[in-house]
Amino acid sequence: MATYHGPRCKLCRRQGMKLFLKGQRCSTDKCAVERRSYGPGQHGQRRRRRPSDYGIQLKEKQKARAIYGVLERQFKRYYKEADRQKGVTGENLMRLLERRLDNIVYRLGFAASRSAAREMIIHGHIEVNGRKVDIPSYLVKLGDEVGVRERSQSNLEVRMSVDAKSGVGTVEWLELDPKNFKGRILEMPSRDQIPSPVNEQLIVNFYSR
Ligand code: SF4
Repeated sequence: MATYHGPRCKLCRRQGMKLFLKGQRCSTDKCAVERRSYGPGQHGQRRRRRPSDYGIQLKEKQKARAIYGVLERQFKRYYKEADRQKGVTGENLMRLLERRLDNIVYRLGFAASRSAAREMIIHGHIEVNGRKVDIPSYLVKLGDEVGVRERSQSNLEVRMSVDAKSGVGTVEWLELDPKNFKGRILEMPSRDQIPSPVNEQLIVNFYSR
């Protein structure tokens, strides 16, 4: 499966903001953005010229890709699909990204980050409507039930993550049943129900150049 294996903290530093790609570490003072609040690499501390419109749009697309852990080719496919659907393309795109199984597993709190969620899925710990699904990009549908398989529920990391999440609650369009390690998709989210720091209109502008 094609996925990004490079240093994730660099992606945050390039964006100049925390993208929360590494789970618990992101909330500690070990976070690279906290320690070095300038761009990565040899020239990271140089004063940058004002970016062009193209540069701003490109950066926003890269940010969305980094957050959801999607490579370019697949991201473009999501954009084309979003463009084909009825409604606002940017919103459709965000909804498609949110429907990915790795995102749902993360949002339900079964994993501390989307990359940890991807690993859980690939290793066969996740089921959808009672059947094992080992494809992180699987798109869930309205009413689907996503859960941790019974034999994986004793995994300490999963337990800790679910406990932490059940204290703060999850997004309103998902229902979490922490006792049974299950969650349900109650509705497809509108843009204001998606807590991602992305300006999707810039991404639409990027692809419609
Ligand atoms: Fe980003 Fe997390 Fe690394 Fe901080 S620790 S730079 S938020 S991935």
